Amino acid sequence: MALSPPEVPRGGEQEARTRDETLRADVVGALERGELSLAYQPVVRLPTGRPVGFEALLRWQHPQHGAVPAAALVSAAEETGAIVDIGHWVLQQSVREMGRWRSEVDGGSTLMIGVNISGVQMLDAGFPDVVRDVLETSGLDPSALLLELTESVLMPDTARTAAGVQALRSLGVRVAIDDFGTGYSSLTYLRDLPVTTIKVDQSFVQDLQRPGSRSPQIVQAVLGLAGSLGLDAIVEGVETAAQESILGEMGVTLAQGYLWARPLEPTHVPEWLDGSLPR
Ligand code: C2E
Ligand code: MG
Ligand code: MG
Repeated sequence: MALSPPEVPRGGEQEARTRDETLRADVVGALERGELSLAYQPVVRLPTGRPVGFEALLRWQHPQHGAVPAAALVSAAEETGAIVDIGHWVLQQSVREMGRWRSEVDGGSTLMIGVNISGVQMLDAGFPDVVRDVLETSGLDPSALLLELTESVLMPDTARTAAGVQALRSLGVRVAIDDFGTGYSSLTYLRDLPVTTIKVDQSFVQDLQRPGSRSPQIVQAVLGLAGSLGLDAIVEGVETAAQESILGEMGVTLAQGYLWARPLEPTHVPEWLDGSLPR
């Protein structure tokens, strides 16, 4: 039997591999070199479009490669362990900035802040203590902090994850399942974990108007599920007025997306709030 020839990586693959290696090498120390920053995307209430808070999103300006997508940054940081320090910084920085907006911006006192948490951070039994310290130092009301966990974070060891989520909830913070509907067993997470919020993945919104799409029924069912469990539902990735109107008719009350604002630099947040908050 003829042996198959060894696999020769195609140009694109080879390039991607080299880029991943470069990112892994460079992510260590990126924080200390001042290459990381945060952008803040508003979460709004429908139908008014008034902000209820923001989600903090990592940005990496690489000296050679320019802006690196957040997902690539996060996986490089997870693979090297750099995510622990980076994640701590994200939490500290975003909680501190939100504290300032709540006290300094007219009408801003009830805003909340969403922070994405990596599975690597959740694996650390000391993580709830880190969150407690950050809250104590900043003085932010714990219920103004929403920790966003993707289903890949919530992974197989349910007992351990449940204990971790419970420890976070005991601090008074809110916990969301992010990108809901894209993982494998969302319903067991809803059954077993004391989460407060579901973030409906943006792929369902993008697919809403495709002829024959099942996304409208799925979004409607998720809203029903959230409602009967007493959870908040935030729909992500709303880009058009048509999507907003379909979602509004379904009863969506919380959303985020380019329709209202792209992620903003922190210096632009007070100004954006100024034009959007009731006074
Ligand atoms: P995510 O938590 O689901 O964040 C929402 C993503 O959707 C963000 O991408 C945001 O810029 C993008 N987005 C918002 N509105 C729209 C829209 O209307 N249309 C479209 N097409 N996209 C929209 P981004 O900033 O590239 O972040 C990607 C992912 O990286 C995040 O997804 C999150 O999982 C992860 N990430 C970002 N920052 C952090 C962080 O500080 N820590 C951790 N662990 N993960 C983070
Ligand atoms: Mg998120
Ligand atoms: Mg998401």
